[in-house]
Amino acid sequence: MEGKKITVAIDGYSSTGKSSFARLIARKLSYIYVDTGAMYRAVTLYCIENNFINNCELNVDKIIENLEKIRIEFIFNTDTGKSETFLNGKNVEGKIRNVEVSNNVSAVSAIPEVRTQMVALQRETGKNKGIVMDGRDIGTVVFPDAEIKIFMTAELKIRAVRRYNELLQNGENVTLQEIEKNIRERDYIDTHRDTSPLKKADDAIVLDNSDISFDEQMKWFDKIFRSIIEKQ
Ligand code: C5P
Repeated sequence: MEGKKITVAIDGYSSTGKSSFARLIARKLSYIYVDTGAMYRAVTLYCIENNFINNCELNVDKIIENLEKIRIEFIFNTDTGKSETFLNGKNVEGKIRNVEVSNNVSAVSAIPEVRTQMVALQRETGKNKGIVMDGRDIGTVVFPDAEIKIFMTAELKIRAVRRYNELLQNGENVTLQEIEKNIRERDYIDTHRDTSPLKKADDAIVLDNSDISFDEQMKWFDKIFRSIIEKQ
């Protein structure tokens, strides 16, 4: 495999299981995994903690002015076997998935200056290939030359139930209706924003996982990976 490292770009709607899928692919290939949603979530948390967001009202000037002060890193936790998000040196992995961050992250991600900064960091991290990155604009904007592009989708109801169960496990006090509403709103904002809206890259392969198991999904990827790597 030496010298044959490629870029795997995974985009798609909220709560389609992009992160779990991307993380396992990266582990199997010994590639770096980057969850770009976690980066936008960390920026959003920073804005909430610094009162640049109040009751879903964004102080866009303040957010832009303070972008330079935001440092995001991923540090591998050997106990959990997962990499965790750090914001200015603090582990924020637990906080960035909460409902308040989820309710504001799509609005923060729609600010062009926020995207410019995150995309630069993402490109730098993936410049040597051997990377699996998931998000909304990886195949269209961040790495338009990625060798494998996957666009994930699933029925809204199924996505909401999956997210709901995940949050319950994390001890969050939420209702299924609330989660469904949040996912619908995020889908809307993500697909309608002016800068890098969520859309399938022309050369992306669609993966609808409404009715397939995680194992089937991995087998599906394995076939695609083999066919691409043989051509490299
Ligand atoms: O992937 P996740 O659902 O954690 O992403 C949270 C939000 O971050 C998305 O709803 C989207 O608004 C934003 N995002 C983005 N571009 C990316 C990744 C995430 O705009 N590449």
